[in-house]
Amino acid sequence: MNQDPHSALLCAALDAAARGWHVFPLRPGTKRPALHGEKTCTRTGPCADGHLKWEQRATTDQARIRAAWSRAPFNVGIATGPSGLVVVDLDVPKDKGSSDAPCGAATFAALCERAGHAVPTTYRVRTASGGTHLYFTTPDGVHLPNTAGTVAESVDTRAAGGYVVAAGSIVTAGRYEALNAAVTAPLPEWLLGILRPAPACLAGPLRPPAVDGSRAAVAALEAECATVAAAPEGLRNTTLNRSAFKVGRFVAWGDLPRHVAEDAFQAAGEAAGLTAAECRTTIRSALDSSLRTVRPREAA
Ligand SMILES: [Zn+2]
Repeated sequence: MNQDPHSALLCAALDAAARGWHVFPLRPGTKRPALHGEKTCTRTGPCADGHLKWEQRATTDQARIRAAWSRAPFNVGIATGPSGLVVVDLDVPKDKGSSDAPCGAATFAALCERAGHAVPTTYRVRTASGGTHLYFTTPDGVHLPNTAGTVAESVDTRAAGGYVVAAGSIVTAGRYEALNAAVTAPLPEWLLGILRPAPACLAGPLRPPAVDGSRAAVAALEAECATVAAAPEGLRNTTLNRSAFKVGRFVAWGDLPRHVAEDAFQAAGEAAGLTAAECRTTIRSALDSSLRTVRPREAA
């Protein structure tokens, strides 16, 4: 049965969600998220407790997906982190005439050969520009950041904090096509070895320095940091955001120096497996948001 393009995109979003992948809308015809950014956030609806980014709003919920895609023919973004995916992006250099950059497919094939393995068979998508996305499931409890050129030249990976454009999406250059609808293979051990970040060096327990915060503020900070450090894969950034937002009121009230909250959450977030950069961004955004919206202590 032929579908109109709008229904086809809804189906693409539902198909991805049915695989357990967390989707969010991309602006029609583009690869850019359609959800509002931090600066234009109205602190209403899903953002009532603080701004939520696309990674936090990505969902597998059919009703939410239908509602979102009823508004416009959005392309489909898959938030790789919450989806438990690591996607290997084999890029094609944009202008072969003026660039010496090799093709990602070639450098990856060479890497596989050196590693003594076949190029893995898994769900793969041909990108609009002729590149290839290889989808893998991330092992439980393993946190992988995005990488660019770490695996091989012209090979990037998308994991926590990243997203890919799903099959069925259409941009000016063409359509993203699923080439192989087979199951998504687990990330091969040898590739995991290349992608796994060096273990974070944890200097002691996650305890904020006992400085001039009020007891209630320090207790709240400790509790929230423990929550962040124990957050399960896929919910780490959301948890960090919510926890930092909650503690923000004590910063606003002058009960806790901001840098103390920042340092403690930074350590907790990194211990949970988030990258230093992810932690910094989320903490800053959550605290800013909290400070802007906090009520006076008497009213709280
Ligand atoms: Zn928002």
